[in-house]
Amino acid sequence: MKAWLNHDHGEMLRCEDVADPQAGESGLVIRVTHCGLCHSDLHRWHGISDLGSRGVVRRPRPEHPIAMGHEIVGEIIAMGPEVKGRSLGEKVIVYPWFGCGKCKACMSGQDNLCREPTRSLGFGNHGGFAEKVAVPHERYAVPLAELSPEHAAPLACAGLTVRCAIRKLEPFDADQPIVLIGAGGVGLTAISVLHALGHRNIISLDRDAGRGAAARAAGASHFIATPEGITTADVLHRLEGKVDAILDFVNSSVTATMAFELLGKGGRMVQVGLYGGEMKLPLLLLTGGALTVQGSITGTLDDLRDVVTLARDGKLPPIPVSVVPRADVNDALRRLDAGTVTGRLVLEAGQI
Ligand SMILES: [Zn+2]
Ligand SMILES: [Zn+2]
Repeated sequence: MKAWLNHDHGEMLRCEDVADPQAGESGLVIRVTHCGLCHSDLHRWHGISDLGSRGVVRRPRPEHPIAMGHEIVGEIIAMGPEVKGRSLGEKVIVYPWFGCGKCKACMSGQDNLCREPTRSLGFGNHGGFAEKVAVPHERYAVPLAELSPEHAAPLACAGLTVRCAIRKLEPFDADQPIVLIGAGGVGLTAISVLHALGHRNIISLDRDAGRGAAARAAGASHFIATPEGITTADVLHRLEGKVDAILDFVNSSVTATMAFELLGKGGRMVQVGLYGGEMKLPLLLLTGGALTVQGSITGTLDDLRDVVTLARDGKLPPIPVSVVPRADVNDALRRLDAGTVTGRLVLEAGQI
């Protein structure tokens, strides 16, 4: 099959032939029809991680490049002999974060926290920037049913990631303010999922005032622009006081530090973004405020099923999506890198 491979950091992906994936005993092979572009694809493409005072780490040039892409929709084209109840041609959304299936995390349904080296699509195995992907068990292929493939694809990362992060704040009252930092693809999805869950006090923050309209359209009750140079006092004034719940979809030194300052007593901030950097905490304020700082990474298969159900029930306002031909993946990566994308870019398979 053809796969678009990242031979060196930040260079154009090259379309090459690689071995076809196999279904195995209980797995599936899926022909990729759509694949969303995520900021973690960009991080992988650049190969750089900002670890604050531990330095900026550059990963070695990949010896065996893996096709990126983990927001995958496609159709089943092969099944292992043990698979029951599925059919060839069935359209599915792929859960890409599968683990070893044997460790404590995997056994409790938390594949995303697997202790073993990653097997995830787009990271440990060829992902959606290839013509086909394989999953080791049919359960990882959630029926697409009547959902539009370009709107469903982002549920496999953006959707389940926000569901998992929101779960860390539950239970909460429908009118309790929840601050969401960042109104990019994941931040907008979070607004949309919170709204679909019945939440009625969603406060979206983004440094780009131009994202306010999309945030409101997704279901935000309020939007606060936080351009460079804005002070925490300014934001607190706009918020009319401290808050108990913050989801940070940027997670940079600046946003995390601001989130900490916005937290009221007993408050919780959940760090979801992959921007990187460092936050220094006054420890006495952490104790005195009984504050919680928590991380959250992707989500579980149940989280994906949850957001797919919300979408199928018509409760999830779709975020803006632009569909581009898969052959234009390099242009799409550059657009995402330039920060000019509203919502999500989704690659569509076409003629090579
Ligand atoms: Zn992602
Ligand atoms: Zn595992």
